[in-house]
Amino acid sequence: MRRLALLSFHGCPVARLGEKDTGGMNVYVMQLAREFGKRGHQVDVFTRYHDPSDPQIVQLGEGARVVHLKAGPYDTTKQDLYQFIPEFLNAMDSFRSSQGIDYDLIHSHYWLSGRVGMALSQKWNVPHVATFHTLAKTKMRARAGEQESEIRANVERKVMESADGLVVSTEMEKDDLIGLYQASRAKIKVVPAGVDLELFYPRDKDEAKQKLGLEENRVILYVGRIEPLKGIEILLEAVKLLEDSEDTRLVIVGGSLEDDAELERLKGLSERLGIEGKVTFTGSVPQEMLPDFYSAADAFVLPSYYESFGLVALEAMACGTPVVVSRVGGLKTFIKQGETGYLIPWRCPEPFAQRLDMLLANPALKESMGRAARAQALEMSWSGVADRLLDFYSDLLADSWQSVAGA
Ligand code: UDP
Repeated sequence: MRRLALLSFHGCPVARLGEKDTGGMNVYVMQLAREFGKRGHQVDVFTRYHDPSDPQIVQLGEGARVVHLKAGPYDTTKQDLYQFIPEFLNAMDSFRSSQGIDYDLIHSHYWLSGRVGMALSQKWNVPHVATFHTLAKTKMRARAGEQESEIRANVERKVMESADGLVVSTEMEKDDLIGLYQASRAKIKVVPAGVDLELFYPRDKDEAKQKLGLEENRVILYVGRIEPLKGIEILLEAVKLLEDSEDTRLVIVGGSLEDDAELERLKGLSERLGIEGKVTFTGSVPQEMLPDFYSAADAFVLPSYYESFGLVALEAMACGTPVVVSRVGGLKTFIKQGETGYLIPWRCPEPFAQRLDMLLANPALKESMGRAARAQALEMSWSGVADRLLDFYSDLLADSWQSVAGA
C-alpha cells in the first residue's frame, strides 16, 4: 500500500465542472484518486477551500479523499493564486503532521501545484511527479492574444528541472517539454488520459432528446469550458455556412449563464450571424447528465486552437457519437481520420461545415463512425491509466530507495 499525496491547489475535484476554471484536470485528478483508492492505496488530494461551506475532508471513494485547506480568500481567481502558495504549503505540512501520515510520493497537477510539490518533496524527502496539463509557452503559441505570465513559464521550467518524474498525455507534449523548456527526456513518461466507461456509454437517442427537450431532427453539440482557446466562434460560423441547416440545433454546454463575458460574446456573435434561433447555450451541466447530451447529438464538435488532450471528444466517442475536431494536441492521438471522426487541420469554419454537412446527410456514415469511435474509446479506461501511473511511481520509488540506500 502506498500513501499518495495528489496536489491540485487551484482545481478542486469535487467542484462543479465546465465553469471557468474547472474542467479536464479536475476530472483527471478525481478519476485517478478513485482508481488508486480502489487498488488499496491511501490517497489524499490536496486543494484549497473555495467555498467555506465545504467540509475539510470529502471522501471520494474507498481509500481516497479530498482535503480542503485554507489559502487566500475564497473567491481568489486562478491568476492571483501564486502569492498564496506559501500559505497552502504550510497548511499541507501541518495537516500531514497532525495526521501523522508519511506520504511515499507527491504527484502535482498544473504549475501552481508543481511549485508546491517542488518545495514539499524536499521537505518530506519523497519523489515528486509533475503533470502540467497545459503549459504557458504552448498556450501562447497556439493562439494570438493568449497571455501568460513570465513567472508561470519560469516556474514550469524549475519544476521540470527539480521533479523526479514528469507525466504527459501525448508525445507532442513530451516534445514541448523538451523543446520549449529543455526538460530531461529520461524523466518523461507518456500516459494518455482516459474515459469513465461506466458513465459514458450510448443511450437511446430519442429518449435522450426527449429528456433534453430537443425537438429538431439534427443536433450538433459542443461541451467544455467557454473560453477563446476553444474556438467556439469557428463552430458558430460553421453552422451559419451549413448547406442545409433546416431543422438543426446547435447545443453549447459549459460556462456560466450569469456574468460570463465570453459566453455573452458568443451569444452576440450568433445574433450577428443571424443563427440565434438555432443555438442553445445551456451553461455548465453536471457530468452525470452529459451522456444524454452526447447520445442526443448527431455530431460532436471541438474546434479548439489547442487541446492538451480533449477529454470531451473521448467522452462523445464513448457514447457512440462521431466527432469533428481541430487537428491539434491530444485529439490527433486518439481520433483516426475518417474512421473514428474528422480532424480538421485549419482553424476556419468552412471545413467544419463541410464535414458536418456530410455527416448530417449520411446516417449510415454517422452510424459506422459512431461505432468505430466507441470501439476506440473502450480501449481507454481510467483503470488502465491508473495502472500505468502506479508502475511509473514504483519505478521512481525503487530509484529513490536505491539512492538513499547508496548514500
Ligand atoms: N464537463 C462537465 N460539465 C460541463 C462541461 C464540461 O462535466 O458542463 C466536463 C467534461 O465531462 C470533461 C471536462 O469537464 O470531462 C472537460 O475536460 P476537457 O479535457 O475536454 O477540457 P479542459 O477543461 O481540460 O480544457
